[in-house]
Amino acid sequence: MKRTAVIIVLLILLILSAGTNTYLYLNNEEAMAQKELELISMRDSMQRELMRMEDSLDAIVQSLQEENQMLANKVTELEGDCYSACDTVAGNPDYLGPAALQRAWTLYNDVKDANKDAILDAVSGKGGCHSCHSMGSCTTYCPNELDPLSAILGLKRATAKRFFGGRK
Ligand code: SF4
Repeated sequence: MKRTAVIIVLLILLILSAGTNTYLYLNNEEAMAQKELELISMRDSMQRELMRMEDSLDAIVQSLQEENQMLANKVTELEGDCYSACDTVAGNPDYLGPAALQRAWTLYNDVKDANKDAILDAVSGKGGCHSCHSMGSCTTYCPNELDPLSAILGLKRATAKRFFGGRK
């Protein structure tokens, strides 16, 4: 009788232990499932954020491309007008032209640009500012009211002064 009671107690303990383990196992499964859901949700929100960043990056790149195209059109328009007005350009394929010389003069006068000699070297060679006959059609027909002729005259003076050892 005593032995039977011991066996019954052991059986009860065994059943209780199995129940506890099952409970812990199920609880663990539930926590893992919850963790998995949280990870999926984090991954989805990161993907959404990445897509949003890609979209805004695309928009920035597109606006820069548009701005670049606008500037390129403007330069073409500028060069086109002074080029078509300039008969030296038409007759001398080496001639730099009014737009490039105007730009060189602007750079030459830019206080941040220290390499004035290099600019004068570039504009004083064959096809440089001394090929200009100074009639001024580029200035007359400039659609942006620039004055390439004065810029070219400035370059001519600066190259001549350097040649004779003077300073600007
Ligand atoms: S002034 Fe010089 S750059 Fe201007 S149109 Fe005449 S030749 Fe060309």
